[in-house]
Amino acid sequence: MTEQEKREIVRQSFGYCCAYCGVHENEVGSELELDHFHPRAAGGSDDLENLVYCCPACNRIKSDFWPSDPTVRRLLHPQRDVIAEHFREDTDGRLIALTQTGAFYIERLRLNRPPLIALRQARAERISLRLEVNELRVAQAKLQEQLVARDEQINEIVAQLNRLLSNNG
Ligand SMILES: [Zn+2]
Repeated sequence: MTEQEKREIVRQSFGYCCAYCGVHENEVGSELELDHFHPRAAGGSDDLENLVYCCPACNRIKSDFWPSDPTVRRLLHPQRDVIAEHFREDTDGRLIALTQTGAFYIERLRLNRPPLIALRQARAERISLRLEVNELRVAQAKLQEQLVARDEQINEIVAQLNRLLSNNG
């Protein structure tokens, strides 16, 4: 397997997003980087299973971190840990830790850095706008149905009037 093929597999398996902060290639404006989850400096391999797709900022922040005691103060693996068990996203875009490991992870990778909070807020706003647009579309369709029904009623009344007029004539 060539380096390029390896890169493409990792890129796809992480959905073109940074495995740590979730930023998409399109939001960064370029392809992201490959991180060695277990750093090579700490004995990590170059194998596919050790590669994580990651943005330049997270890669720089994570650096060669590798826990001496891999119990609590360790990094979560984006695909091997159930991330949702360790932290959740608050309505203001901040990540809130649910476990000690989650708290360490957020802190160590600085996942509440201001641009990430702003990005999460913008994404949440986009979702709520989309919901609002859908609701408006449903309301509009209902109004159109009502208009059609009204039109039919008016036509019926006009037809009745015409009949009455011609009977009287
Ligand atoms: Zn990132």
